[in-house]
This record gives sequence, C-alpha cells and structure tokens, in this order.
Amino acid sequence: MLAYTYIERGRFELKEKPVPQIKDARDAIVRVTLGSICTSDLHIKHGSVPRAVPGITVGHEMVGIVEQVGAEVRNVKPGDRVTVNVETFCGECFFCKHGYVNNCEDPDGGWALGCRIDGGQAEYVRVPHADNGLNRIPDNVTDEQALFTGDILATGFWAARISEITSDDTVMIIGAGPTGICTLLCAMLHKPRRIIVCEKSDERIRFVRSHYPDVLVTKPEDAEAFVRANSSHGGADRVIEVAGADDTFELAWRCARPNAIVTVVALYDKPQTLPLPDMYGKNLTFKTGGVDGCDCDEILRLISEGHIDTTPLITHSYPLNEIEEAYRTFENRLDGVIKVAITERQRP
Ligand SMILES: [Zn+2]
Ligand SMILES: [Zn+2]
Repeated sequence: MLAYTYIERGRFELKEKPVPQIKDARDAIVRVTLGSICTSDLHIKHGSVPRAVPGITVGHEMVGIVEQVGAEVRNVKPGDRVTVNVETFCGECFFCKHGYVNNCEDPDGGWALGCRIDGGQAEYVRVPHADNGLNRIPDNVTDEQALFTGDILATGFWAARISEITSDDTVMIIGAGPTGICTLLCAMLHKPRRIIVCEKSDERIRFVRSHYPDVLVTKPEDAEAFVRANSSHGGADRVIEVAGADDTFELAWRCARPNAIVTVVALYDKPQTLPLPDMYGKNLTFKTGGVDGCDCDEILRLISEGHIDTTPLITHSYPLNEIEEAYRTFENRLDGVIKVAITERQRP
C-alpha cells in the first residue's frame, strides 16, 4: 500500500509498505477513506517533534471503514464507518479514568499515531486500543463532515470546555487557522456574550467575516486596544491561544482581564516566557497542553444534529498518490488553502 513516510528532518516520501496487521487483541485495521494534513505533520517535518520516529507513516486525521478487529475489540466491527482519534489511550489507567487521556500511561498512550507508530496518510492504518480510538460515524454524517472529529475539532472542543465559558463572557480566540476555527465553532456552542478573533492574515480574516458574521475580528497590532474597547472589564474573560506564533503567548495574557482564564492550545516552535512580575496582581489562571480527545461521540452527535459544521474548512482535495502536491499547497499556504482532504489512491 502507499504510505507517506517521515524519512528524516525536512523530508517525507510516499513509499510502498505492507498493509498493517493486527498485533494485539485490542487492535483494529481501518481502511482510510478520507484523511487530512495537520500543522503538527509540518512540525514533524521541520524537526520540532523530537519524539517522532523516522520511518513511520505520518498522518493522524482520518476517517475510514473498519476492515478487521482483534479478539478483544467490542465497540466496533468490520464494515463500521469510523473516525480515528489522534490519541491512543487505554481507558483504564489513573489519567484515562480522570479524562486526561493525553497522559495515558500505556506505552502507546497519547499522540502515537503518525508520530511514534504508523499513522493514516496511507491506505490502511492499525489503531491500537480500538475501542477507545475509534468512534462510529452516524449514518447521516458524511466522511467530510466527520473528518476533523478526532484531532482539530477534538482540540477545539476541549479548549472551549476547559476554558469554562459562560454566557456573560467575552471570549478571545487568537489564531484563525484550522484549529482556531474549530475552537471558534466550539466556543459558539457555549453561547458567550461576545467572541473576538485575532488573526493577522487578510485571507483568514475574510474567511471568518464571511462565514461567521457575528464574530468580531481584530489584527494582532490592534488587539489589546480592541479587546479593551469591546469587553466589559478591561479585557477578555477567556482567552484561547491557538496561534503559536512568537508573540501570541504574550498577546494572550495581555488581552486577558484580571482573574481571567487563559487557555494555551498552541504548539510553539520556541520557548515562551512567563514574566510574572509584569502580571503580578492580575491573578490569571493558565491552562495548557495537548488535547484530551475523549469527547468524540459527543462531537459526532453535535455534527449529526447540525450544531457543528467544519466542511467549509476543506478548501482543497487530492488523492493519496498526489499527497506531495497536497503538502506543497498546505505548507506554503497557496491558493487560499485552509485544509486539504486526502482521498483514496487513484489508480490509472
Ligand atoms: Zn493534528
Ligand atoms: Zn490510560
């Protein structure tokens, strides 16, 4: 089968590999029917994910059809249409039992697929702990509608959830890339008083304005003054930092009102400073880290009922055999791309 493979820093290659086999009774093999490229894949390519293992198949955003299951798999069966979770988790350890599945103590726990073990920019993928890592797609939900459930939508859902948004809040979201938009859609579910999106790209600003006209938009250089003018207590009640640029962490806490919650979902390329003397007395609560992707059934229900629609994010589509071109478009942000969909291999 074709598998897009991490060779070394700076280089991915499309290779022929054997179709994966069941290794453990809790595994499932999924035929990938639709996948995508995530910014985290680019982080691997650029060498900023040290735990990524050379030789692995990359890709951790995909949906597919269960082909085969191990003897202990109970929740899915061959033929089921499923979303694949970016996170692998056992469901039994201390962290899993508390919902912190990103910190699962299993050797494969956390972000393993497409990072430490073979992922889904391929024709087939082996999913460990399939009872937790796969969620059945409701019949009225298409592959395109479900595509982002296990990764960026799970991240946005989790970011909005841990930010404890109330109906009185002004919520600021920094970054209107794919994960920023997913976070915006999930913040909207909490019906806050106001949402302000901060984004520097004119193209992305146009996207937000045309699809979500009720959302206020500001550029980074105007953001502090804009948030102060458009909030009730001198800053945003909740700030969600999704951008991960060099100066967006500082922007996040500067735009927060005293006693606000600042949630940092971004993955930075460089260390960030937390200048405590500058924020003394502001009494901020910071929440950080990687997604706990354990709400996928609820996300799929919300999609099925029409409350979340991420399909406008899919601006481009390429078959697996043209994935190099998909990466070129995504990585260089060509042609107004937001997300690319990778469809099944096209045979000549
Ligand atoms: Zn991702
Ligand atoms: Zn666990």
